[in-house]
Amino acid sequence: HCGMIAIVGRPNVGKSTLLNEIIEQKVSITSRKPQTTRHRIMGIHTEGNYQAVYVDTPGLHIDEKRAINRLMNRAATSSISDVEMIVFLVEGTHWTPDDEMVLNKVKQTGKPVLLVINKIDQVKDKEILLPHLQWLGEQGDFVDILPVSATKGKNVDLIKKYVRECL
Ligand code: GDP
Ligand code: MG
Repeated sequence: HCGMIAIVGRPNVGKSTLLNEIIEQKVSITSRKPQTTRHRIMGIHTEGNYQAVYVDTPGLHIDEKRAINRLMNRAATSSISDVEMIVFLVEGTHWTPDDEMVLNKVKQTGKPVLLVINKIDQVKDKEILLPHLQWLGEQGDFVDILPVSATKGKNVDLIKKYVRECL
C-alpha cells in the first residue's frame, strides 16, 4: 500500500475537510476563508496494523507576488516530493486557472494521481457533472476519477481503498 499520500489542490477546494474526514479526527483547521492551512499538516489513518499518512498541503497559488503565497507554494511543493501517491482535489462546480496550475504540477511528478471531485452535494443538476467529469478525465492520466463530498462523507471510503491498493 501507499505509506504517504498528499492531498493537493487550489485554496478552498476542501483539502483540510477531506483529511479530517479520512482520519475521522479534526486535525486540520477548515474554513470558508482561503489560506487557512499555511503549513503542512499530517494525519494518520490506522486500521489494524495498516497505516497511511495523509499530508494536507496549503493551497497552491499562481500569484507569487505575495510572500505568504510563495511560502505556501514552497510548503506544498516539498510535501508532494515526499509522497507515493497524490490525491488531486478539485470542485464539482468549477475549474479555474489555479486548478490548471496544480494539475501541471502534479503531472510533472510522474506519481500516481487520483483525481477527486469534491463538493458534489452542491451540484444540483447532475447532468452537468457528467460532461465535466469526462472533460477532466481527458486532462491527464489519472488512477481514477472519484466524485465525493467531504462534508457528507460520501465516497471518502473509496479514496482510502485506492490508497490501500496504491495503484
Ligand atoms: P482547503 O482550503 O482546501 O483546505 O478547504 P477547507 O477544507 O478549509 O474547506 C473550504 C470550505 O469548503 C469550507 O467552508 C468547507 O466546509 C467547505 N467544504 C469542504 N468540503 C465540502 C463538501 O464536500 N461540500 C460542501 N458543500 N462544502 C465543502
Ligand atoms: Mg486547508
